[in-house]
Amino acid sequence: MYSIFEIYKIGLGPSSSHTNGPMIASYSFNQIMEPHLDNINRIVVDLYGSLSLTGKGHQTNKAILLGLLGYKPESIEMEKTQKEFQAVLSSKKLTLKNKKTIYFDYDVDIKFHQDYLTLHENGMSITAFDNNNEALCSETYYSVGGGFIKTAGEFESGVSTSAPVKLPFPFTSAETWLDIAEKQGMCLGSVVLQNELQYRTEQEIYSKSSQIWKVMSSCLKRGLETEGVLEGGLNLLRRAPPLLKKLNANKSLENDPMQILDWINLYAFAISEENAAGGQVVTSPTNGAAGVIPAVLTYYDRFIHPIATKQLIDFLAVSAAIGMLYKNNASISGAEVGCQGEIGVSSSMASGGLTAILGGTNEQVCIAAEIAMEHSLGMTCDPMAGLVQVPCIERNAMGAIKAINASRMALKCSNKALISLDKVIETMYKTGKDMNKKYRETSLGGLALIHIAPCE
Ligand code: SF4
Repeated sequence: MYSIFEIYKIGLGPSSSHTNGPMIASYSFNQIMEPHLDNINRIVVDLYGSLSLTGKGHQTNKAILLGLLGYKPESIEMEKTQKEFQAVLSSKKLTLKNKKTIYFDYDVDIKFHQDYLTLHENGMSITAFDNNNEALCSETYYSVGGGFIKTAGEFESGVSTSAPVKLPFPFTSAETWLDIAEKQGMCLGSVVLQNELQYRTEQEIYSKSSQIWKVMSSCLKRGLETEGVLEGGLNLLRRAPPLLKKLNANKSLENDPMQILDWINLYAFAISEENAAGGQVVTSPTNGAAGVIPAVLTYYDRFIHPIATKQLIDFLAVSAAIGMLYKNNASISGAEVGCQGEIGVSSSMASGGLTAILGGTNEQVCIAAEIAMEHSLGMTCDPMAGLVQVPCIERNAMGAIKAINASRMALKCSNKALISLDKVIETMYKTGKDMNKKYRETSLGGLALIHIAPCE
């Protein structure tokens, strides 16, 4: 089981598995190398599989360097960090733990390999060498989606190094979650919140939830205001600011009630464009899919009812638990199971959360989450040029609309579901694993092969 705030965390664009995960891995390597600090002469990073194939587009190399400099995704201060990054590039000098300066050639010491490590599609290793080129220490990491990392040892043993937290209501499937809620006479969100109280106080849950909403809202604001072309070579013009102007010029929902869909698209575009530009987002549950949940929450806030903190917490609790089920029983990594694991999961989380705050029953919450995934099954991950731009930005808008429609269908449903949430999670994982590797975040198949003229 995870805390709500492991599923919802503040991250840096463009990718949770290719940017945030590698940054956390190299940050944690600081601890491993500390006892050897005096003797370290060189550090080499090896990237494999999807981290290598799409690493440059996802800024994996930059993220790793920032982690070695002592940064984590939530501690980044954009301007300061950028200056430090540039200084290492131009001087070729890297200062470790503020104590030891070594030679570091960004273009040589981070190596991109074509092959895969055995345990997961996103593998990397970091090794520190002494003057004689003897390895002093080394660790292999896997970035398993949503900014979560595992060392090779953790992967092989299946045991995490962090101490387990004893929960009053542990559950590993939607079925047991529903059972607990029924036996205790609680709603699904309350079950999750009782567990969350083992991680932090009520006051901390309140302030962390408010902070998540604040980061989502300021990301939305930046995305609505920032015009221009996204970096990376696709020459992709940001779509949110001109769309906002058009919508503001014709606000009449009476003439066109479906205009609400344009607004939801707008919110999803604005956030995922900010993510593509490397801005601060809420990883939910990944960065590639970071636009879906804020778009659905903003839709509720602006078109249904201004969101109160209690509802926000309920939404986050229910949707995070749905995300945990996917994380535990399937995957939230595009490189492992395709985009169904990112946009599909965020859409499933959002529709469950929305149904809960719209007053749906516990069963309807799970039906909504199931419907949103059922119609995302088989979605490939094929980002053009390895950038989280095409098809990612539009997919966020499609995912947000799908979440709202799934919630509407579930709220009108009085029959028992034919397909359970647990079954759809299992099917999603099997489908992902059956997918040809080229459709799982390699940029070697699907839309990624469409030729684009290089930008002038
Ligand atoms: S296609 Fe989907 S899974 Fe792949 S990078 Fe884009 S958002 Fe992530």
